[in-house]
Amino acid sequence: MNYMGKDKKFVEEITAMETDFAQWYTDVVKKADLVDYGSVRGSMIIRPYGYAIWENIRDVLDAKIKETGHSNVYMPLFIPESLLQKEKDHIEGFAPEVAWVTHGGDEELHERLCVRPTSEILFCEHYANIIHSYRDLPMLYNQWSNVVRWEKTTRPFLRSLEFLWQEGHTCHADEEDAMDETLKMLDVYANVCEEYLAVPVLKGRKTEKEKFAGAVSTYTIESLMHDGKALQSGTSHYLGTGFAESFGIQYSDKNGELQHVHQTSWGITTRLIGALIMVHGDNRGLVVPPRIAPTQVMIVPIAQHKEGVLDRAYELRDSLKKAVRVDIDASDKMPGWKFNEYEMKGIPLRLEIGPKDIEKNQVVLARRDTGEKEIVSIDELNTKIPELLEEIQKNLLEKAKDHREKKTNLAMNLTELQNSLNDNPGFVKGMWCGELACEEKIKEETGATSRCIPFEQEKISDSCMCCGNKADQLVYWAKAY
Ligand SMILES: [Zn+2]
Repeated sequence: MNYMGKDKKFVEEITAMETDFAQWYTDVVKKADLVDYGSVRGSMIIRPYGYAIWENIRDVLDAKIKETGHSNVYMPLFIPESLLQKEKDHIEGFAPEVAWVTHGGDEELHERLCVRPTSEILFCEHYANIIHSYRDLPMLYNQWSNVVRWEKTTRPFLRSLEFLWQEGHTCHADEEDAMDETLKMLDVYANVCEEYLAVPVLKGRKTEKEKFAGAVSTYTIESLMHDGKALQSGTSHYLGTGFAESFGIQYSDKNGELQHVHQTSWGITTRLIGALIMVHGDNRGLVVPPRIAPTQVMIVPIAQHKEGVLDRAYELRDSLKKAVRVDIDASDKMPGWKFNEYEMKGIPLRLEIGPKDIEKNQVVLARRDTGEKEIVSIDELNTKIPELLEEIQKNLLEKAKDHREKKTNLAMNLTELQNSLNDNPGFVKGMWCGELACEEKIKEETGATSRCIPFEQEKISDSCMCCGNKADQLVYWAKAY
């Protein structure tokens, strides 16, 4: 790449991921213009480029949420303390992270208000008012909103005081219907991650220790980051009838008898942007999968002061606009600066066009994922570019799958687990007896947590990796964000 020499310094501004992965991450989120820090510790400002990525994720998922029969609603931001106390397990789980409003203007409130850390309780109170008969079921609601969790250690997108998400909340007549919903939405999440974000995920159930506060069971999609740490990328919970009993959400069945509804809740957050950064990014910055990329093709005119170059570049943009998300940088910055800038931002394809290209009726296309350059006739662009974008999309998923495979190991005992985490950090498959004591010991001694009990079970041994007793469950372990 001929522009490397002159602009080397610009590239050196990002810490190499091999040197310090955490610093690399921080450099990328800042230099790719995704976020800025808010004035309250742990809060973030999502800048236009970061927000555009979020909007694309949101639009894809929102369409799927609606296709599967859900309606969007909006719940209040505040929860009165008395209401919060109604479901004991739930409040105990969230209490350490709750932010409280104690004053309205100058006046102290009679009752403290909690800023929602999640909205189960608000939905439940509402459902108790509007659900009466079996004809009202299933009730399938979703909310796009912000929530607040007063986290002690924070990082942009991965853990921040306030984040954006969607939370689905549904009510069903029986367990079977509610479980179908729980697993259906987990599949929707997995599909969005793999087909759009090109992030491969493991699907499975959380252990009792790791499940959502107040849930009967929690299902999760787990992905593996470049540094070998896992990221919980979305969860779907079967809540049983616990909330319905606390809040009195009942319906009369076909025989006129009162029954409690079975509930679910499920959510994904702006964390997915963190996954995208840490799965696909490299030492030149972000790499955004084409299906989610706000700009799929960036046109960089070469020697744009020469007659006809900009006109031709704009013409190309207008003709490509129908098929792809395309933009042009006609600023007076040097092409080398622009190359670096759009590589940093992870734009999938760069299109270079200069006087010589115009003479030959061609352009240069450069792929962000492989760095490969190709000369393409202008007449073929309308078919070639969408093809290349699809290829990039596929390549990113394949690369991420390979990476995950290379970083998935087996362990028969704690020593092997520890060695694996030291030598080749990633997922470790190990058998577990089901005892909390073993799960806690593993975490204490190795720092790895149980990520999930995968749906696709294998029997790699008969005995628990920790205590050696009989074990019939395979669990994925990893250090996690
Ligand atoms: Zn055990």
